[in-house]
Amino acid sequence: MHFIDVILPIPLQNRFTYSITQAESGFLKEGMRVSIPFGKSKIYTGIVAAIHQTKPLIYDAKQIHQILDDTPIVTQKQLQLWQWIAKYYMCTEGEVMRAALPNAFLLESETIISKNNAIQLNETELKDDEYLIYEALQHQSSLKIQDISNILDKKNVLPVVKRLVEKEAIILNEEIYDKYKPKYVRYVKLTQAYTSQDSLNHLLENLSSRATKQRDVILTLFSIAAKTKKPVKVADVVAESNATSSTIKTLIDKGILEDYHIQIDRVVYEGEDNEALKQLNQYQTEALQQIQQSFKTQNVVLLHGITSSGKTEVYVKLIEQALLNNQQVLYLLPEIALTTQLVTRLQNYFGEQVAVFHSKYSAHERVEVYNQVLSNSAKAKIVLGARSSIFLPFSDLGLIIVDEEHESSFKQFDPAPRYHARDAAVVLASIFKAKTLLGSATPSIESYHNAQQKKYGLVNINRRYNNVQLPDIELVDIKDKQKRKKMKGHFSDRLIEEMNEAIKEGHQIILFQNRRGYSPIVECNTCGHSPQCPNCDVSLTYHQYRKQLRCHYCGYNSAMLIKCMACGTPGLDTKGFGTEQIEAEVKYIFPDLKVGRMDLDTTRGKFGYEKIITAFEQKEIDVLVGTQMLTKGLDFRNVKLVGIMNADNMLNFPDFRAHERSFQLMLQVSGRAGRTEKRGKVLIQTYNPYHKILQQVSTNDYVGMFKEQLEERYNYKYPPFYRLVKITLKHRDYNKVDMSADWLAKSLTQLFKHNVLGPEFPPISRIRNQYHKNILIKIPQGQPLGKTKEAIKKVQTSFEAIGNFKGVRIVVNVDNY
Ligand code: ADP
Ligand code: ZN
Repeated sequence: MHFIDVILPIPLQNRFTYSITQAESGFLKEGMRVSIPFGKSKIYTGIVAAIHQTKPLIYDAKQIHQILDDTPIVTQKQLQLWQWIAKYYMCTEGEVMRAALPNAFLLESETIISKNNAIQLNETELKDDEYLIYEALQHQSSLKIQDISNILDKKNVLPVVKRLVEKEAIILNEEIYDKYKPKYVRYVKLTQAYTSQDSLNHLLENLSSRATKQRDVILTLFSIAAKTKKPVKVADVVAESNATSSTIKTLIDKGILEDYHIQIDRVVYEGEDNEALKQLNQYQTEALQQIQQSFKTQNVVLLHGITSSGKTEVYVKLIEQALLNNQQVLYLLPEIALTTQLVTRLQNYFGEQVAVFHSKYSAHERVEVYNQVLSNSAKAKIVLGARSSIFLPFSDLGLIIVDEEHESSFKQFDPAPRYHARDAAVVLASIFKAKTLLGSATPSIESYHNAQQKKYGLVNINRRYNNVQLPDIELVDIKDKQKRKKMKGHFSDRLIEEMNEAIKEGHQIILFQNRRGYSPIVECNTCGHSPQCPNCDVSLTYHQYRKQLRCHYCGYNSAMLIKCMACGTPGLDTKGFGTEQIEAEVKYIFPDLKVGRMDLDTTRGKFGYEKIITAFEQKEIDVLVGTQMLTKGLDFRNVKLVGIMNADNMLNFPDFRAHERSFQLMLQVSGRAGRTEKRGKVLIQTYNPYHKILQQVSTNDYVGMFKEQLEERYNYKYPPFYRLVKITLKHRDYNKVDMSADWLAKSLTQLFKHNVLGPEFPPISRIRNQYHKNILIKIPQGQPLGKTKEAIKKVQTSFEAIGNFKGVRIVVNVDNY
């Protein structure tokens, strides 16, 4: 008798044993997919995790339906990582599996299939059974696996569906394809007639007397082309020659220049020769040497380099070396920072060896990258990706770079696995005996502490590339400004002065406000009532642009009210402000400036983010207003001034990391100013100019901030001294949550005594009609982690057996952020 243990993509604790035939056992390997029956009528795709001959004791093993692969699609090392993540983050391997594999790999009875209209298919290429399904989809918008079983009159249909997915004939689970129109940039060059030296000289002579502007344009075109050795953008010629676009149009009409367009946001690289790597300056060279030295004894090194110190160029050198050893490289970035900026930069150096893995990519694109990595293809030697790219099937990983390692978005919040990609990356690297480089201008307290404890190596770069000084940071006391009537809306006179100055010099401006929408609270002038979300315990945010009230937790929305819902009086006021309001005020105070806004509302869709960044880079926007999205490592050349509209919201946020985060956010957004030649300027508006963190931001005192925060963490028993496990109970019924949380907290307290905090309702205690209550478990250093987690699991199991608590959902978040 032969058996396999299978991991199924569901939140059940154990692997499942199925029986296979002798023949199947000769063919199957660990890491292959099988389709299996589950329960009464379900079908799942499972991953074979073990092959053996031991009959399960407590149930009869069912037979598998079918083997779906010829070779493994999951490697042993991936299985090792899944196991670690499941154990450490207290979830199931099945949950990890669902996060780890592209959706298209996980056919199951619940899968909904529809026709892929984006592709013109040659129907003659379909086999008979494939054609039957494809034809059915012409008449019906979607089919379930069961329907397909009926159409084909057989049970095992996953292989057919799988083939249709591979032919791109169908898509799964109604993935929405982006209707994005690619962004084209306009370039100019000389027409064929003027490429010879003679004709050119002749032309320039001709123009020199009569049309000097046109001559300037052509000379500028040459000088830019000579400098960059790349196609020349119309925008650059206009900027550098001080010509207008009408001069260029004249030259085009005369047949001297021709313009053409290049799509700039494609990921597929079609360039020619690779650009030579940049020569590192003295500080970068030293840093590189220290990193290499440190890697001899350390597996992880933290690179603490101030903004614009050129960390990326140092990474690039390390990547080059790994490639020379023919190893794969993983370059992790926060999702939002995966912009064309970095993709282009790396592709310029490494050509088509760079692959990008991104949640906004279509299922097909993700499958493609997965398969390239699996085959160790030359097209995916360097994977640039967001957190889920730690799950790719590397075979010879040599180096992981975690850029902006302090970013909290590396931690997955929902659903399980609630893993931290930076920390999991360190484990992944150790599985490969590879090295990890963490990089940041504002390292997390945890990583910097690890470096101080000599667990990680530490390397610093304290100079900006080009020796540009860090921006001058000025704190503006808005309480005082209000008293002296020096505020226009939310703009102090200082900010307006500096904005005028920056614009006069032809520079651009970034304004940061950590809230989207127009204003977070609407309030009746007469009775004080403010509209709340019907599903959540929060007030609705006013979005002027769409004339709506919206809930930022559940998405609920309604039209903006004309009068108060409670008392019927028309006077409604707004309190607090978000990015929309700042945008509106800029338009009002500076009617001549072009304003752009970058927040969750303006960046939906695959390229939403890129579009705004490109527009800003192309100087189509003078002032960019945005949320923390602005901070993620963007490299803008022409920004002189950064305004932080209000620092106090962030500082007062009720979380033990609020001060650390505020420091990081403010320093990062400041780092967007003055990156090239001139020193930048940052204005921080606050009611609290003497706040410690603001003082530390204004003096760029990372180490001071670190020491002080570390002391607080020590005193209040927080990470890195204590580890945290947060348990959240959720249910529609307030009393049920309340009672069950009490029970759970009591049981845990018996085990962990005063290291259990709560149960406590969070500030927002109801979301999507579910009440939440939290329990926090602090694990002191020295208390064995594994055992502690097992003990928590046991309590959880007893909890789940209590009839009264049925339906209460428990969410366990290890190392919660
Ligand atoms: P960081 O990631 O540390 O904020 P970047 O790597 O983005 O800094 O570098 C800032 C700017 O300086 C980039 O435009 C980059 O091209 C440029 N730069 C950095 N190092 C060099 C170098 N050695 N030679 C030329 N340009 C460099
Ligand atoms: Zn809501």
